[in-house]
Amino acid sequence: ALLALGLLFFLLALYLSHIMSRRAMIPIAHSYTRQREFVADASHELRTPLSVILSSIDTLQMEETLGKDAFIQRVLGNMKGEVKRMTKLAGDLLTLARSDSGTLLLQSEPLDLTVHAQEMLLSLQPLAQAKQIDLQLKAPQTLPIRGDADRLEQLLVLLVDNAIKYTPDGGYVLVALSVETVKAASELKIIVQDTGIGIPPEEHQRIFARFYRRDKSRSRQLGGHGLGLAIAKWIVDAHQGSIQVVSKVGEGSTFTVRIPFERQTNNGQQK
Ligand code: ADP
Repeated sequence: ALLALGLLFFLLALYLSHIMSRRAMIPIAHSYTRQREFVADASHELRTPLSVILSSIDTLQMEETLGKDAFIQRVLGNMKGEVKRMTKLAGDLLTLARSDSGTLLLQSEPLDLTVHAQEMLLSLQPLAQAKQIDLQLKAPQTLPIRGDADRLEQLLVLLVDNAIKYTPDGGYVLVALSVETVKAASELKIIVQDTGIGIPPEEHQRIFARFYRRDKSRSRQLGGHGLGLAIAKWIVDAHQGSIQVVSKVGEGSTFTVRIPFERQTNNGQQK
């Protein structure tokens, strides 16, 4: 009888631990999904009011009497800067929340990366010129690949924007695109090199983490919030590639992205 009672207790304990583990698992997984949905929804919802605020500030800046008041213009200018920062933050959070939940799918379309890099350079040239930075592109005449055009352009913008931000006036930023054949497979190589402040070796991994900024006040002043490289890494990972940094403090940094790819032939088919 004692043995039967022991067995009964053992089975009861097994059943209870089974139920407890199920109970513990379901809400955690569920709340994690809910949390991602919440971040995605919240950042999406923030974008409309932010764009309304931005256009209202524009209207105030152009208003006849207010537009002439230097103090009001300064305050409105500051407000505009902060609203732009929040808009960028909301957009970046939305990108990461969607990538986490797997709802942000990459396109695989034929594109010429040289054309996209040239467009990117044109849009960032004013930023570089404002700091007398020499921004150069070295790329083959055409670079036909398959990939997600918007995301690859976003990757270039993130890396080049950082290179400009963290390089003192009068510096040099080079973007180099090339194709290498490694073990019979083609690989796209994107290099973004700057003559900026550099990153110490112990930080080379950490800078890709979400919200990581080496110097919070400097990054904030420059309009950053520590999500740029996390998004860059997600884009590279989603293309089955890798991203590495080589850097020397006070001399500059070189970010190298490698993405395996299949070349496009002229009739749009893959080789
Ligand atoms: P942030 O918005 O702060 O620029 P990022 O995720 O883009 O965020 O970068 C994370 C941190 O990595 C930055 O705060 C900066 O300290 C460092 N960093 C990124 N790119 C460079 C660069 N080209 N030169 C020096 N430091 C850089």
